[in-house]
Amino acid sequence: MITDIKGLHHVTSMAADANENNTFFTNTLGLRRVKKTVNFDAPEVYHLYYGDEVGTPGSVMTYFPFGQMPRGKRGTGEVGVTEFAVPKGSLSFWSDHLSKQGVTGLSQGTAFGETRLNFDGPDGDGFALVETDDRDRTPWTGNGISADAGILGFNGARFRLRDADATGELLTFMGYQKAESEGDVTRYVIEGGNAADTIDLEQSASAPTANQGAGSVHHIAFAVEDRAAQLRVREALMDTGYQVTPVIDRDYFWAIYFRTPGGVLFEIATNEPGFDRDEDTANLGQALKLPTRYEPHRAQIEARLPELAA
Ligand code: ZN
Repeated sequence: MITDIKGLHHVTSMAADANENNTFFTNTLGLRRVKKTVNFDAPEVYHLYYGDEVGTPGSVMTYFPFGQMPRGKRGTGEVGVTEFAVPKGSLSFWSDHLSKQGVTGLSQGTAFGETRLNFDGPDGDGFALVETDDRDRTPWTGNGISADAGILGFNGARFRLRDADATGELLTFMGYQKAESEGDVTRYVIEGGNAADTIDLEQSASAPTANQGAGSVHHIAFAVEDRAAQLRVREALMDTGYQVTPVIDRDYFWAIYFRTPGGVLFEIATNEPGFDRDEDTANLGQALKLPTRYEPHRAQIEARLPELAA
């Protein structure tokens, strides 16, 4: 069994409009944009990262805003809900705030003893705010959401799957422990990880398969401390029969990817080197950062990217 995984590292989704995406995650949700860079394979598309002050692993929501991309269709074989943690007692603020901002899909409920507020992202993305203890996490307050309500990184994620068993087995192999079930949803928790440590598997045998597009999660990344741990995880997965990519340098972390039995694309990402490797903490996310191979084309790339509000 793998013992190196520490919970979530980041979640990466696709969006239509870059400015709408930027405004939603900074102004509406109050996250900090911690990196403004481009897609490694499509430099005419931004890669925007939002998180806490420094982009702590387990707090980072990232987006590829593809412009005119059609909306995805929610269904099975995907991350259905990305869940942020918020301080206890803050959901009445959030309900009021999101409703004033015109956010749709608002509905409050409880699951696994936690109070949660579901809401839609700008492209119909499935999100929830879940009330939790702060667990040593500090919200970013630079965008006008106060510390007693600010987002405390991820709580976890809920996958929708036609058959949850094989993915449950994989999570167990990755170090998660099966916890309780409520209806069609089974919770998996990783002990000793960061605070973004739950995965809920919702089994929905009759729902249609998801179609990826704007508002869909592209992949979900799990955190390991360093490159040595990542190599151990890679070897263990390959020994079990998974097809895992070679290690890829993503500038702010090292990444490996593999497709899981339920259809969700997993990444294992290192906590090193982090988002402050090429700009200081005070200015994170302001300047356009390019992968080294695109630096000679900076002028053309900048000319094609839409200008973003601060
Ligand atoms: Zn990723």
